[in-house]
Amino acid sequence: MSKKVVIIGAGVAGLSAGIYAAMNGFDTEILEMHTIAGGQCTAWERKNYRFDYCLHWLVGTSKGAFHDIWKETNVLNDETVIIDHEIHSRIFDQDRNEFIIYSNIDRWEKYLIEMAPEDEERIQKMCRDMRKSALLQPFALPPELRNPLDYIRLLPVMWPIFKLVRKFGRKSCKEYFDTLQFKNQKLTRFLNALYGERNFSALAFIFMLGFFNQKNAGYIKGGSFPLAQRMLEKYKKLGGKITFKKTVEKITVEQNTVKGVQLTDGSLVQADYVISAADGFHTIYKMLGGKYVSKKVDHAYKNWELFTPIVQVSFGIDKVIQADSPILVNIAKGMHIGMTELENGYSVMNYAYDDTMAPAGKTSIVMRFDSPWKMWEKLEGEHYENEKEQIARDAKIYLEQEFPGIGAFIEVVDVATPKTGVKYTGVKDGAYEGFMPTKENMMDALDMQLPGLKNFYMAGQWLFPGGGLPPSAQTGKWAVQLICKKEKKSFVSDR
Ligand SMILES: Cc1cc2nc3c(=O)[nH]c(=O)nc-3n(C[C@H](O)[C@H](O)[C@H](O)COP(=O)(O)OP(=O)(O)OC[C@H]3O[C@@H](n4cnc5c(N)ncnc54)[C@H](O)[C@@H]3O)c2cc1C
Repeated sequence: MSKKVVIIGAGVAGLSAGIYAAMNGFDTEILEMHTIAGGQCTAWERKNYRFDYCLHWLVGTSKGAFHDIWKETNVLNDETVIIDHEIHSRIFDQDRNEFIIYSNIDRWEKYLIEMAPEDEERIQKMCRDMRKSALLQPFALPPELRNPLDYIRLLPVMWPIFKLVRKFGRKSCKEYFDTLQFKNQKLTRFLNALYGERNFSALAFIFMLGFFNQKNAGYIKGGSFPLAQRMLEKYKKLGGKITFKKTVEKITVEQNTVKGVQLTDGSLVQADYVISAADGFHTIYKMLGGKYVSKKVDHAYKNWELFTPIVQVSFGIDKVIQADSPILVNIAKGMHIGMTELENGYSVMNYAYDDTMAPAGKTSIVMRFDSPWKMWEKLEGEHYENEKEQIARDAKIYLEQEFPGIGAFIEVVDVATPKTGVKYTGVKDGAYEGFMPTKENMMDALDMQLPGLKNFYMAGQWLFPGGGLPPSAQTGKWAVQLICKKEKKSFVSDR
């Protein structure tokens, strides 16, 4: 009899864990509270427009340890089409001054020097730091399975990265920009507005373009929903079982060993191993009652900043709206959409480059803005509905500013709030990528196992500040590698 692995949640982490567990011969069951798989990696349809919620880019589209995972889990296959954008994003301020971020660092460096010749040396220094991120190699194995040789082998390759980490690992973007001392006002203003005014890690900024520069962070045509469906397909093909509309309330434990889970309908599902790929806070403090908490986990959940949730306003446009940049960002100050004052402006994604997102001759456009959870937490009923309507009205006005004349062609407006994210995925306070990568935590990760608890593993975005699809899928794989080790089975990944 194969041992049974129960996985809580069918987001990308849960699907990844399910695929590797099934691949390695375990009797595998995923329990998912929603009616579909994908978690936050999702999209929805309105009048034949598809509105994507997640995928801007996927690190690992061309090489490396993440790439292996995408191939093994069917995220990438012979049919997937990868789009590498030349422009990362186009940014505007209140006076419609434009600032471009190119995906290619050489191109960006040239553009910045043309804009700010007085900062030539400083720009070159920043771009030199950024180019070093090409040397960054994600580990293929979880920390518990690495041996000293794995580190020694990487040392010469990654030496310049270690130096960067030592220098900037505990610095914020603001501190990094202050060290560089740019003179050009426009450059300083845009960089600070985009990265310096939040508690954002300098390293996260320096590494940001590294993967794009190597064409290793492309967009996959079709976006988030088909991505998750391909994983689900692979999981089912391997014989994995998935049950929807099943919410786990409790993880059952006897003598500090996990025995299975209890669902909200009272039923029990027995297991030899449980992997939770659901929200970290709910798993540790609710499903396990806060009984197995390390000092680090306690510190993280009490002190680490969370991503501010977003409101997404999706538009179906009965016209083709061309775009040379997938993302526009407007950083103008003092704007309001509904009750939210936009501290970081708003972004607009025009999916014209993906013809699967809208019927022929039409365009899906998505506007997003940060909106603190405390504004939404208690908003209910009529007040909630009124707020959504006000958001739709205000967002249309801003969309018109970005694309004059577009108003006459809007045929669908859909508003998803932080509450929508919480309702469908259970993510804490709508923090869609978990912990914000700051100077305090950028160098940290949380353990996949909890102290004193046997046969239990965490997977998903809450283990690494910054979250995202790659660490989510990777921790799903790592959890199964650790289980295989415990079962004295050799781990396979090629079925
Ligand atoms: C707007 C937006 C843009 C993004 N852009 C990108 C991007 O471009 N690139 C990138 O890499 N990442 C991006 N991300 C982040 C990425 O989507 C997430 O980090 C990732 O999907 C998290 O996966 P996960 O499996 O860890 O968690 P989740 O997706 O949150 O999955 C958790 C799953 O568990 C289920 N669940 C929760 N509680 C229970 C329970 N009690 N019982 C049963 N099931 C339960 C949920 O329903 C859900 O399906 C973006 C996210 C958003 C919202």
